[in-house]
Amino acid sequence: MSPASPALPMLPMTRPSIDEETIAAVCEVLRSGWITSGPKVQAFEAALSEICGGRPVRAFNSGTATLEVALRLAGVGPGDEVITTPLTWVATANVILEVGATPVLVDIDPASRNIDLERIEEAITPRTRALIPVDLAGLPVDRGRLYAIAGRHRLRVVEDAAQSFGAAWNGQPIGSSGDFVSFSFHANKNLTTCEGGALVLPADIDPALCERLRLQGVRRLADGNMDVDVLGGKFNLTDVAAAVGLGQLRHLREFTARRRALAQRYFERIDPALGLTLPPADFVNCNWHMFQPLLPAGSDRGAFIAAMKEQGIGVGVHYPPLHLFSLYRGLGFHAGQFPHAEDIGARTVTLPLFPAMSDADADRVCAALNRAL
Ligand SMILES: *Cc1c(COP(=O)(O)O)cnc(C)c1O
Repeated sequence: MSPASPALPMLPMTRPSIDEETIAAVCEVLRSGWITSGPKVQAFEAALSEICGGRPVRAFNSGTATLEVALRLAGVGPGDEVITTPLTWVATANVILEVGATPVLVDIDPASRNIDLERIEEAITPRTRALIPVDLAGLPVDRGRLYAIAGRHRLRVVEDAAQSFGAAWNGQPIGSSGDFVSFSFHANKNLTTCEGGALVLPADIDPALCERLRLQGVRRLADGNMDVDVLGGKFNLTDVAAAVGLGQLRHLREFTARRRALAQRYFERIDPALGLTLPPADFVNCNWHMFQPLLPAGSDRGAFIAAMKEQGIGVGVHYPPLHLFSLYRGLGFHAGQFPHAEDIGARTVTLPLFPAMSDADADRVCAALNRAL
């Protein structure tokens, strides 16, 4: 297959939009002499808290660190089971192992591609301590049904909202209600700090303890001395990163609106005859973190990705089901356990979708699909 238009530059699967004002703000931080956690982190946390209905929010250096600290704050440790989905970025399950607990996986609902809420209760045992629902591609898990289950069984919830910053449930922003809510600001997420994350805290958790778990357990005393009374990690965000985040926040609404418009365009322009299964068409709650059609059953995904690349289009895979990774097979997981996650994990492809994409870029992707399939 020859490239459709060799003159066109490569269209990546995603690319952050960082404006000149943000770049200038980063330079200002670098010149200020205070480059690690300081006033910019505090301002970023305050701005995030405003979006999250005034709830306490603490910034971290990754969305993995936020999940790990949330589990520790929830009292999850050795002997406990935590229920989550096999179709997610592996960080979601790795943090369960990191705190010494046991991941228990529940298959997805093929319609939403998120954890099957109908099947959570059969996985609950006397050892279950927490649920980690994941809003895959930015499509929120039904919060009403989720918290009804958590309430009935007295379970903590750590919402892995790494992909759903800017999304909504019942007209309210994700993060503005619920138990722990964890965001990631990795370079590919809808809002970035290059690397980073934030944890929204429930009312029964002391934000000062969260801060100690974030930084070596250190408690600063009034006389200038310090104490360490708990084992903390090294998870603080830098002011350089927070300056990027503050610059990004100014565009959050516009970023989400643009992603929704591009997703809508894909729905209108992808030829139904190609046999792709399009993602759930939610233009109210979802922030369209990713646009993920499923290839027809039996397709050669590697050949499809190569054919798109030859036409200058970047395509990703999010995600192979995590229970089939060697580490998890070694824990006893095996093929056939979660058939929906395995089927979708084998057929999913992530097409380009990011705020700086033009309508013409989306049309170019659609044309390339026609040639690749
Ligand atoms: C990105 C992501 C994470 C981890 O975030 P990092 O900032 O990369 O550590 C966790 N869970 C999900 C679902 C993610 O997409």
